[in-house]
Amino acid sequence: TTPQPAQSPQPDPQLGAAVKAADRAHVFHSWSAQELIDPLPVAGAEGSYFWDFEGNRYLDFTSGLVFTNIGYQHPKVVAAIQEQAGKLATFAPAFAIEARSEAARLIAERTPGDLDKIFFTNGGADAVEHAVRMARVHTGRPKILSAYRSYHGGTATAINVTGDPRRWASDTGTAGVTHFWAPFLYRSPFHSDSEAQECARALQHLEDTIVFEGASTVAAIVLETIPGTAGIMVPPPGYLAGVREICDRYGIVFVLDEVMAGFGRTGAWFAADHFDVVPDLLTFAKGVNSGYVPLGGVAISGAVAETFAKKPYPGGLTYSGHPLACGAAVATINAMEEEGMIEHTARIGADVIGPALHEMAARHPSVGEVRGLGAFWALELVRDRETREPLVPYNASGAAAAPMGAFAAAAKKNGVWPFVNMNRTHVVPACNISEAEAKEGLAALDDALTTADEHT
Ligand code: PMP
Repeated sequence: TTPQPAQSPQPDPQLGAAVKAADRAHVFHSWSAQELIDPLPVAGAEGSYFWDFEGNRYLDFTSGLVFTNIGYQHPKVVAAIQEQAGKLATFAPAFAIEARSEAARLIAERTPGDLDKIFFTNGGADAVEHAVRMARVHTGRPKILSAYRSYHGGTATAINVTGDPRRWASDTGTAGVTHFWAPFLYRSPFHSDSEAQECARALQHLEDTIVFEGASTVAAIVLETIPGTAGIMVPPPGYLAGVREICDRYGIVFVLDEVMAGFGRTGAWFAADHFDVVPDLLTFAKGVNSGYVPLGGVAISGAVAETFAKKPYPGGLTYSGHPLACGAAVATINAMEEEGMIEHTARIGADVIGPALHEMAARHPSVGEVRGLGAFWALELVRDRETREPLVPYNASGAAAAPMGAFAAAAKKNGVWPFVNMNRTHVVPACNISEAEAKEGLAALDDALTTADEHT
């Protein structure tokens, strides 16, 4: 039986129509051709579910944009925001505020190594902006290296650091960013046939890139610990340790972007924990407070912090460490700990989601590869398992992307809201999703995959 949300859907189609009309008239949506989109009016959400004004309820296999790690309307977080609003709703960043200092302490205690100082931002992109600035000032060097298969945010520098096609329209070519290939055995840029070979070749390619760019010009290497939006590609053993070693050798700042992979998503506080690697800077956002109030930040190592001990850091934000956002982070981190969420996520990934996806892959010819861990999985859909031809071409839109659209529609009809990106569907539910809910959603995806099989 399906667990019901405590607050069940109250159909109100008239209000839904009014919400939609105002949205269509006045809301300008991200990444969209405004007249070609059809946003679903949402009436409410709780836990792993949300519902519309017609009374349709969906199991959210996207966690929003992979940020509601503790699900919707978590009572402890909602209460903490209300309490903080009553106590001190806002205050300028130059003062020491209880919610801010407590959030910084809790985050610093959980980030790996000596990442003990926290610079707060309003989200992920500005965290990347500031990590890049810190690295440039710290090293006195201009260039940033980042991976082609990556996403780092939509602001000026973050979109240039991004490797995926969202960069193209904003790329001035003068941002001082050079892209390189990170390992991805399934579509190996190095034509490798084992993980060990892919790892060795990727590290050699990165070092060659540094040498030919001029090591003395490279400030930072920015990598998602496990690239998220670009396809949840778990790096081979030894790769991140190898990058750490290369950074040390050439005096380059190592930035790990954990905006998506951090705060429990992978069944660890940070994805870096799986690889025993400590970056110089670590960016976070999303899961830090499950997006209940916008918050992001940069966790800073002792060496980089030292640069700014006596000379000012040239940057800041009016809402840096906003009390409501930090109050929500304190409650979120404490709730994750009290409720054993990290362990739960590791277990549900290893025992439920992973095995179910592999079992589905064996039956559906459209599934080319299953990748992931924790509550962070991708199915790569193909026309042909042998040639690995993607179900839809790279960066396809409109009619060319129709097979993925049909898959998404079938999943929604089955009551699951799927995450679809290019030729992949990602399975990225709330990290505290119950086993029964996970199984319900996986069964819905299983059925929807028959639409993709028709194109093989
Ligand atoms: N880095 C990564 C790895 C991300 O996944 C994202 C968002 N998807 C960002 C940065 C940008 O975060 P935001 O949208 O909060 O600016």
